[in-house]
Amino acid sequence: MTSLTGIGVSPGVVVGTVHRIRHTVVDHDVPATPREVLAALEAVAADLERRAIAAEIEVAREVLQAQAMIAQDPALVEAIGARLTDDITYPDVRPAIRDAFSGFRAALESLGGYFAERVHDLDEIADRTIAMLSGDAAESVVLSAPSVIVADDLTPADTAALDLRYALALVVAKGGPTSHTAIVARGLGIPAVVGCNDAEKLADGEVVLVDGRHGLVQSNPDEALVTHHKTREEALRARAAAVTGPGRLSDSTPVNLLANAGSVSDAVSAANAGAEGIGLFRTELLFLSRDTEPTVEEQVALYTDVFTAMAGHKVVVRTLDAGSDKPVPFLNTVPEENPALGVRGWRLTRNGTGVMRRQLQALAQAAVDTHTDLWVMAPMIDTPAEAADFAAQAREFGIRHVGVMIETPAAALLADKVLAEVDFGSLGTNDLTQYVMAADRLDARLSDLTDSWHPAVLRAISLAATNATTLARPLGVCGEAAADPHLAAVLVGLGVTSLSMAPVALAEVRGFLATIDRATCIEVSQIALSASSAEEARAMVGAVLEG
Ligand code: PEP
Ligand code: MG
Repeated sequence: MTSLTGIGVSPGVVVGTVHRIRHTVVDHDVPATPREVLAALEAVAADLERRAIAAEIEVAREVLQAQAMIAQDPALVEAIGARLTDDITYPDVRPAIRDAFSGFRAALESLGGYFAERVHDLDEIADRTIAMLSGDAAESVVLSAPSVIVADDLTPADTAALDLRYALALVVAKGGPTSHTAIVARGLGIPAVVGCNDAEKLADGEVVLVDGRHGLVQSNPDEALVTHHKTREEALRARAAAVTGPGRLSDSTPVNLLANAGSVSDAVSAANAGAEGIGLFRTELLFLSRDTEPTVEEQVALYTDVFTAMAGHKVVVRTLDAGSDKPVPFLNTVPEENPALGVRGWRLTRNGTGVMRRQLQALAQAAVDTHTDLWVMAPMIDTPAEAADFAAQAREFGIRHVGVMIETPAAALLADKVLAEVDFGSLGTNDLTQYVMAADRLDARLSDLTDSWHPAVLRAISLAATNATTLARPLGVCGEAAADPHLAAVLVGLGVTSLSMAPVALAEVRGFLATIDRATCIEVSQIALSASSAEEARAMVGAVLEG
């Protein structure tokens, strides 16, 4: 019985037969003329376009269209022309083709995050072009029976070619929570486990259990194990569906349940999911695709749409957190050795461009126009002086609730002084975990370290929460940690007063919190603090909460 773990990115439990997908890697010389290479590239683009039109899932369609556009990009055609200059048959065109893609590859990689994960999409275009020239047809996947798809990585073209009606679950060795596989699986509502390093151990035809919530893949599961996972999943779903209204513990202690959003449509989803407000509006997403800063008027229009979608509710907006995993082309212009430790977030005010002031002006204006209960916070604050600087600037524009994100060890260690400068705090557990553990949040190989359950992270949170309580400052959590029901209980026990998460996670956290009281939250928070590892904390708390 092989038991594999990875990152659970789409919940659900299924049992099915493994269907492996292998990519054709051409491992022999491919002779061709430059003209033939360009014709193959054109044919690949046309094929991608056809697949885009046929794709049933919107995200798959968008990615395929983007790939088709890259394959037709004049710069790529030029790059190939520059490497294959003579009108002859070259003995092996593979190096020239791969090299022509390398500039695009490096550009995407340097952007990090979501963009870096798109490097696989580029590689796929190169592979397909080579496969077409060599006559090795790309594997066409015909699923005749419901199967668990297992692959090293699933590209957009793979998923578009699959008859996903027959896909029971997706298990891939590569990828993180924002990978194409994760997005597609959530779109289809089927379980998925990514970053499952040992996925290659699974053989075609083998029967496996996949638990996409807990990131588990188990071969030849016995009936008791299947029943355990299925019952647990059903119970979690039933509990989520049963509770509505504002967040409360079973003893009526209120816990504000808010939503994270980055666009107007997210704000609409938040309202539909019964969020009590927005706990983190990530404004940099509005700036990511721009070459220049949006004008104050353009920003006012955008913020007005978001505030209108959440009319009557509190909205916590974060000022631009540009840099590192969220690079904004016109702001992050200086190459950095360590972008996560570089000039990002509020630190960009050091450049004196005035972009934050214009953003504060636009936010204040949109809030007045829409009568919104606006709260504004700054990201990547380290020191009391930075907190005071932000608070002074925000108040100048008439913003009444000013706060900071506590997402660096410095801010957590100095929470008594940092929070004294502002009205509220919000723990960014994604970055706090990355910085406390000194482990890159985007590196799937370090996912055992970038785990917010780690007692080192929880101790930092505890310190911040104790100081927030003493100062009577509301302190929320707006990182992914808030979306894990058991961890949510620990956070409340540590003194956190609100939890902000992706709208899809709200029902489950709401349902779970309604089953436990404050004393239990405090009990499990102390247990978690006393653990020696994330694994132990999770297991010990799980044992108390689920019996
Ligand atoms: C965080 O760091 O936890 C957070 C909420 O912000 P982001 O993920 O956007 O950095
Ligand atoms: Mg952050």
